[in-house]
Amino acid sequence: MAYPFETQSPKQAELSLFKTKLPHITASIQELFRAMSVSYRSIEQKDIFGNYGGLRRDNGFETALNLMWVAMLNDQIIQTDADVLTFISKLRVLCLKWYLFGNSLDSCLFFGYFFYLFYSQSKFIVRDQIRDLKMLIDNDNIVTQDSAIKSLLEPTHSSSWYQSELGIGDKLTNIFISNLDLVKVELPLPGYQITFQHSLQYDLRAPNFISRDLIETPSKKDGKVIISCPSCAQRCRGKLFTHLEMTCPKCSQTWTQRI
Ligand SMILES: [Zn+2]
Repeated sequence: MAYPFETQSPKQAELSLFKTKLPHITASIQELFRAMSVSYRSIEQKDIFGNYGGLRRDNGFETALNLMWVAMLNDQIIQTDADVLTFISKLRVLCLKWYLFGNSLDSCLFFGYFFYLFYSQSKFIVRDQIRDLKMLIDNDNIVTQDSAIKSLLEPTHSSSWYQSELGIGDKLTNIFISNLDLVKVELPLPGYQITFQHSLQYDLRAPNFISRDLIETPSKKDGKVIISCPSCAQRCRGKLFTHLEMTCPKCSQTWTQRI
């Protein structure tokens, strides 16, 4: 079974743009991918109970990760005082892009293992790393406004999520996360942590966390459903189906969602 992000089409034309616009990242991401690929092989082996064999810590992964944060700050795709989640999210977009240029799937699977499945541990490692970097690196706390970089690193998901009986989906992409792959959290912000703990089908297009206020629960009554348009927030009424396609009467945005 293919991982959901594998079906994205590679955009080789963007590779030279990536290399030109993001020189520090281009230099560092290759070593990160190498280290993640090795790390993946170290966790791939499972014991007789099906548990992972654990992560070897001597393969250079954490060093490569640290250098990657430095590269991201130097290429100014992130501000020095950004939070841990933003750092991880930007790295995820970079890794997905790099993968689409024809690089290792194993590296992406390790990314999924480390940043989704073991998020509670990995965020502390990242937090310590970036705290130290903030003292060392001065990027003027600026994020580049270069439009080519922005389009290269555009978000992989929307902020319009819906709740269905079986999970949570993105109205504007086909990202869908089963309830079994989510953990409900209340603090510091109510929402859902995406862990992929059940399926292990990491979707690198998905964020680590979805805040509850971004998730709409549809109102259902008498065979009808009312849901909001992801573009203009117009409340739209339609017939109730398990999979429905809606066109907004106000702005003509179409989208699909499960009920
Ligand atoms: Zn609309």
